[in-house]
This record gives sequence, C-alpha cells and structure tokens, in this order.
Amino acid sequence: MSDRDGLIWLDGELVNWRDAKVHVLTHTLHYGMGVFEGVRAYETDQGAAIFRLQEHTDRLFNSAHILNMPMPFSKAEINEAQRAAVRENNLNSAYIRPMVFFGSEGMGLRADNLKVHVMVAAWEWPAYMGEEAKTQGIKIRTSSYTRHHVNITMCKAKANGNYINSMLALREAIDSGCEEALLLDNEGYVAEGSGENIFLVRDGIIYTPELTSCLDGITRRTIMEMARSLGYEVREKRITRDEVYIADEAFFTGTAAEVLPIRMLDGRSIGTGSRGPVTEKLQSMYFDTVTGKAPFNAEWLTLVK
Ligand code: PMP
Repeated sequence: MSDRDGLIWLDGELVNWRDAKVHVLTHTLHYGMGVFEGVRAYETDQGAAIFRLQEHTDRLFNSAHILNMPMPFSKAEINEAQRAAVRENNLNSAYIRPMVFFGSEGMGLRADNLKVHVMVAAWEWPAYMGEEAKTQGIKIRTSSYTRHHVNITMCKAKANGNYINSMLALREAIDSGCEEALLLDNEGYVAEGSGENIFLVRDGIIYTPELTSCLDGITRRTIMEMARSLGYEVREKRITRDEVYIADEAFFTGTAAEVLPIRMLDGRSIGTGSRGPVTEKLQSMYFDTVTGKAPFNAEWLTLVK
C-alpha cells in the first residue's frame, strides 16, 4: 500500500506517496486517538465526482471536535485536499481517506504539546465485498463482541480507536465463514456492522436502529431520504436480533459497502435468502445517484476538476 506512485496530501502539501511517512513515536499510533473519514468518488459523464463531500468533511470536523483535536485547516481546505487527492492521482473513481492525527511531538497520555496533522489519500477501491455480494447478498453472524457503549467511547466520532472493536468482530465473523459481523449494543439491541449501518424491511416498512451506539452514516441518511421519497415509511427504533431473523429483507449501508443485501444471519435465511425488491430499488437508486446517471440530488456530487 505504501510502495506506489502517486501523491498524498499531507499538512497542506502534495507529497510523493512513498514519502508520506510519520515517525514511530506518532502519538495516534500508540493510543488510537485520531479521527478519519471514508469517502468515495465515482466516475460520472462529467468526470470523477465526490459523493456528499461536504457532509463527510462536516463529520470529520465534528469527530475532531468531539475528541478535542483542534483542526489546523478550514473545511474549504479539507474539501479541496480531497478533490486534489483524486484529481492529482488521475483517478476516475476512488476511495478517499482523510485522517486527523496527533504527531510525535510528545509521548504519554499527558502530552500537551501535540500538533494536529491531517492527511488525505485516494486510491482505487472496487466493490467492498465483490460484485456478486451486491446481488446475492452476504452471510453475517451476531458478534460475540459488544458495540461500544456511548460512555466508553464517543460513538458520534469516527475515531481510529473505535475500529479495534470493528476489527475484532469482523475477524471473528470471517473466521467462522461469514462475510460480516452484526454487533449488538451493550443492552443487546442491534447496533451496526463493523463498518456499516443496518436496515430491515418488514411488511413494507423500513426500520433502522436509532443513532445511539451506531455511527451517523451518510449512506444511512441518503437511503432514508431516498426511501421516504419513494413513499416508504422509515422508522428508527430499537431492533432485536430476532427481528432481523424474521425480516423480509435486510441490508447494510456504508460508503465502502454501498448498499449490500444481507441474505443470512446466524444461519437463518432472511426473507427469500437473496436480495429483496425494496433493497434492489434503493440500491439502484443509490448507484444511479452516485454515478450521476439519474441523481436524486445533483448537489450531492462535487466534481474533482
Ligand atoms: N458504521 C460504521 C462503524 C462505519 O465505519 C461506517 C463507515 N463509515 C458506517 C457505519 C457507515 O457510514 P457512512 O455511510 O457514512 O460511510
């Protein structure tokens, strides 16, 4: 990943990909205190366009604010950095990774001289779980790991350290023959996947967990808006794992995962055991929007050139 041609935006400058390095005493590397985003740019007939750039930048700044990390750049500068990372690497479509981290100016939890650094990289990243998963759906399991409690970590922040929990859950799911994990909150209710929000469809109504311990996903917001525009009722509520077992359809949403049908949870088929009609409708609306073919909201696309 580090040994390739290209440019990475680091603290206000585009540097050669191979030279975008930090010291081993980088504070964030030791304690996980940092925040990041996952953003996608899609190929449209007007060139590469970033989907919901402003919303991702706003969430990055909110995450930094929650963790008390003063941002050394403006939102406009970080928007431009993301456009530059795609444009200057000549990418038609891309996954964009902005990250805000503490430097190596000090060590220890009490370090008070730390500088906040920002990097933005972009590279090609095709369908998160392969093309087939988008139509056939994926097999998931309830995790033995509990999702973060709201007073253990900050669930509204997309914080680096939060992803230890995600990686433990995902590894466990993969090792047991599944493609993704379903994490429950500390009270036992459905929270989210390791990097996705979850939706259910039952009797024509769409359900998703409330924003307590799950991330305020930008794809989640997009899908809720699209579903309501199609006339579906969308309810945010507490959901139990067995409500997922008896759902007609279930799917994950996320910038990386996009809209991904879930065909099985804990060995129980969901609905017909493949992508359901509501999932399919929302999925195609999503792809038509992000690629600019039939945008639900053209303002959600920012051209990189
Ligand atoms: N939950 C978690 C834990 C995530 O990491 C992500 C990916 N950012 C999501 C949900 C989905 O968020 P978004 O739609 O903004 O990518």
